[in-house]
Amino acid sequence: MAANLSPAADIGTRIMAWAHALAVHTEQPGMLTRTYLTEAHHGAAAQLTEWMQAAGMTVRRDAAGNVIGRYEGTEPGAPALLTGSHFDTVRDGGRFDGNLGVILPIACVAEWNRQGRRFPFAIEVVGFAEEEGVRFKATLLGSRAIAGTFDNNVLGNVDDSGKTMREVMAAAGFDPAGLPAAAHDPKKVLAFIEVHIEQGPVLLNEGLPVGVVTAISGASRFIIELEGLAGHAGTVPMDMRRDAAMAGAEIGLYIEKRCGGKPGLVGTVGQFNVPNGATNVVPGRAVFSIDIRCGDDAEREAAVNDVLAEIERVCTRRNVRAQVRKTHEAKSVPCAPWLQEQWAAAIARQGVPVRHLPSGAGHDSMAIAAIADVAMLFVRCGNGGISHHPTEIMTAADAELSARVFTDFVEHFQRQQ
Ligand SMILES: [Zn+2]
Repeated sequence: MAANLSPAADIGTRIMAWAHALAVHTEQPGMLTRTYLTEAHHGAAAQLTEWMQAAGMTVRRDAAGNVIGRYEGTEPGAPALLTGSHFDTVRDGGRFDGNLGVILPIACVAEWNRQGRRFPFAIEVVGFAEEEGVRFKATLLGSRAIAGTFDNNVLGNVDDSGKTMREVMAAAGFDPAGLPAAAHDPKKVLAFIEVHIEQGPVLLNEGLPVGVVTAISGASRFIIELEGLAGHAGTVPMDMRRDAAMAGAEIGLYIEKRCGGKPGLVGTVGQFNVPNGATNVVPGRAVFSIDIRCGDDAEREAAVNDVLAEIERVCTRRNVRAQVRKTHEAKSVPCAPWLQEQWAAAIARQGVPVRHLPSGAGHDSMAIAAIADVAMLFVRCGNGGISHHPTEIMTAADAELSARVFTDFVEHFQRQQ
């Protein structure tokens, strides 16, 4: 099988082969779906364990189901440089989202092990068991367990078959009572670094293989319900209408304009419904979502305030009532400057221009930031930057370059003084 390529095969080819081999572990044949603690998830965990062991790591599972491989430093028991990402996926997802950040470090450790190289610190590669939140509608379960911020309330969440997370964990041999012990001691973690595909088109469009993440964007989400007055499309004159959908459309266009032109600030209306709408009826109701993100919290808050003010203005002018419900709010998580500098230096040493960019998507690093400084390396996505989709792709050449950058980072790693 391609997964057992010899160590002599080039590392980029090996990483790609492993990504494809891991994708065999899916709940739905013909597509990649791997949610928390399913058979496919257990299969992927077993495969990662095998690769980690073959790379010279000792492997353990914690109570959340994380797969943790440890490559000892020159002195056993030394504090660790932590790395990793998630190995769960969305439904019909891509092969590299998350998985790349587990596979790539394993491939690098395998090389060091082959060369008999050790560092003055340990390296721990974590396959986070859950990040996407698909099965139990709760995200970052694996990284929160390791950060000691796991919210026990989610143990009561049920999957589509009505089983609680608590039951599913117990059936899989993971004891929720052991979750507090899964938390890592911050004193034993030097830093956390995560390699992840960009999941966007910025690096691709600029012709760059990798980039240094500056911050994981904070986000504000709202559901807006507008109530106007339904009426006959033929008989209500234009100036007498209280059209809820057009009020929503006007607000949506404002959001697009307000968030445009500012690097790192994005605003999206991803859902827009006209309940019981009909061709010949002036819409009396409209319900839509707003998602605003930015690496800079002050920028995001300013945009949110402007949007809320605009909703008021538009609704007053159009005589439409608005109900604004905030559904989510998260602050941005900055990547530590001292680690960003070390990523940048490692990239520059490969002769590649250094590009800094924010991450609009959430990542395990957000949770780990509670116990350690974090920093991320983005890898270029092919296919227009598409992700969370079967056509998500990257190249073996970029995998190899990323492995070189990662190796260089570790070889030159200086802990914070
Ligand atoms: Zn991911």
